[in-house]
Amino acid sequence: ATPMSIMVATGRGANAGVLIRDAEALERFAKVTALIVDKTGTLTEGKPTLTDVEVAEGASEGEILALAAALERGSEHPLAEAIVTGAEERGAERLGSSDFEAITGKGVTGTVEGRRVALGNAAMLADLGAEPGPLDDRAKALQREGKTAMFVVIDDRLAGLVAVADRIKETTPEAIAALHDLGLRIIMATGDAEATAQAVAGKLGIDEVHAEVSPEDKNALVRRLKEEGFSVAMAGDGVNDAPALAEADVGIAMGTGADVAVESAGITLVKGDLGGIVRARRLAEATMRNIR
Ligand code: ADP
Ligand code: MG
Repeated sequence: ATPMSIMVATGRGANAGVLIRDAEALERFAKVTALIVDKTGTLTEGKPTLTDVEVAEGASEGEILALAAALERGSEHPLAEAIVTGAEERGAERLGSSDFEAITGKGVTGTVEGRRVALGNAAMLADLGAEPGPLDDRAKALQREGKTAMFVVIDDRLAGLVAVADRIKETTPEAIAALHDLGLRIIMATGDAEATAQAVAGKLGIDEVHAEVSPEDKNALVRRLKEEGFSVAMAGDGVNDAPALAEADVGIAMGTGADVAVESAGITLVKGDLGGIVRARRLAEATMRNIR
């Protein structure tokens, strides 16, 4: 690529909210054959809202919401804000917590009013030696609607579950279709549950789904696809995603996400939606075509 054509392309990209780090990122992106995307905050808005509260026998909704929100006030996860705001809207009592602990990819634990409280996914429940029991079917049904269900354990007893929904971004379906037309395989990688991931992926025609993955798993997924001969781009917005962004042939950060993701990326989408990836790809292809 000539320096001039690269300059023109990066300038055009910048005007459209697509920041391309250098000539190498542009050249590599023209050759990409597989795109891995994170679900939350990339395909979806990343602003979930509380939709459902299910109460196990012997517990109450007010208690579940008050204790869950007390813990989540200490967390920075997007799920936490949904629970805190939802509990306040439903008039739950505002309580404080102590010895708060966040368990990456699983949930949160702590003490509220002298009671041990844990909130998180099935893996978290398993770690506590608890069983979803009669709430399992309900959790699965909510997940099939694309919602994220989190179990609430109070003093070693399953007290209920809360569920949140996160809307698919308006621009996502069209962007996925366009990327398919450009010949890319689209792969979803998420820390969320299998049924939730499948529900969202199914609506969008995603080619491959990896659910319940840790940040290290995302890294391993990038490496595996490279070994299979794909040239891999990875788009993500979280601190969690930074290692996989660095591992990919091209890392794509959402400008709306964490700074460390932006630092590890070859391409940054200022507005943080997939439409920018379509524009970047067209720009990259056009630039490389002019050179040959
Ligand atoms: P992602 O970034 O893909 O949403 P994470 O790895 O951050 O995934 O989280 C995976 C799962 O762990 C979430 O879907 C949720 O069930 C649980 N989890 C993580 N953090 C929290 C939290 N603060 N409160 C409740 N559940 C959580
Ligand atoms: Mg995330």
